Amino acid sequence: MTSIDDLLRPDLRGRSPYGAPQLDVPVKLNTNENSHPLPDEVAADIEKALASVVRGLNRYPDRDAAGLRADLAAYLGHGLDVSRVWAANGSNEILQQLLQAFGGPGRVALGFTPAYSMHPIIAAATGTRWVDGRREADFDIDPAHAAAQIAEHRPDVVFLCSPNNPTGTALRPDVLAVVLEAAPGLVVVDEAYAEFAREGTKSALTLLPGRERLVVTRTMSKAFAFAGARLGYLAADPAVVDALQLVRLPYHLSALTQAAARAALAHAGVLLSTVDEIKRQRDRMVTALTGLGLPVVPSDANFVLFGGLADSRAVWRSLVDRGVLIRDVGLDGWLRVTAGTAAEVDAFLTAITAVVAALPVSESGA
Ligand SMILES: *Cc1c(COP(=O)(O)O)cnc(C)c1O
Repeated sequence: MTSIDDLLRPDLRGRSPYGAPQLDVPVKLNTNENSHPLPDEVAADIEKALASVVRGLNRYPDRDAAGLRADLAAYLGHGLDVSRVWAANGSNEILQQLLQAFGGPGRVALGFTPAYSMHPIIAAATGTRWVDGRREADFDIDPAHAAAQIAEHRPDVVFLCSPNNPTGTALRPDVLAVVLEAAPGLVVVDEAYAEFAREGTKSALTLLPGRERLVVTRTMSKAFAFAGARLGYLAADPAVVDALQLVRLPYHLSALTQAAARAALAHAGVLLSTVDEIKRQRDRMVTALTGLGLPVVPSDANFVLFGGLADSRAVWRSLVDRGVLIRDVGLDGWLRVTAGTAAEVDAFLTAITAVVAALPVSESGA
């Protein structure tokens, strides 16, 4: 008898779905959400906006989401307009549409590992061959090494992630310049955490004029505290936006999503007011973890990657036992923790201090 597994595309057999554990623990610092709930004034306006479209839900929404895209362009600035901005259900859908249009069977995508784990997963789902590009030992990308890898693999799509998840550091401008020069195809800079970058960090948006193969993706899931709404977007040349129309599903963004996102964007200033506090908590974790003798990667994001753990799995488990869920990103010896509220960070620091103190001296490795 034919099993479902026999019917599945051979290139998908044996793969596992994306799966950050959604455990029911008091302190959840594992998926880089913004821990601060929406302020009342913003919530009230979103409720009003949703109410205003409910009776029209018998009709399909604006397929082009033109109003929302104009609002996103205005938020980004840099002279962008509707023709250069595209939106979808999370930046994951944006990335999927990019690979549906520019990747696919017979095509190659390359990213520099460790980076966002969804890049290779979406590549696989779209039948795009994935190449694991290499970073240096300190997680940095060396420009010459990057150019050599691109020359070797001639990828149709290169993924860069800045600030990089899971390491946290923003891309060096010279790396982006070299990659843009070396890459024969699309260069996608995933800027999901751009709003948390340290002062002086330049967004790839500044490089867009005149570079039609550069794509910058953003999301409202992190700094905007809007992960549950699912709204991601990109800025690129109008030709890229046009190409995505060939693969996007008609009416992919519901009228509810469009209305909620526009109402939220009208309060961008209020929503982003938690960013400074989150950065303070991030920097507090960097200082405290360093004080525990653990190596910490410099962070431009709302999370911190720390190492020096002989058995990072066991440390992760001990933290869960203490009610604190952080992320095992599959990097031996390292764990990633989101910068939450002051109370959540207190809970994490108390727990990690106890866990590290209980480690056998030879095992702390730091
Ligand atoms: C969280 C994250 C995203 C966001 O995905 P959404 O689908 O917009 O929620 C995108 N890229 C990176 C690197 C991320 O860490």
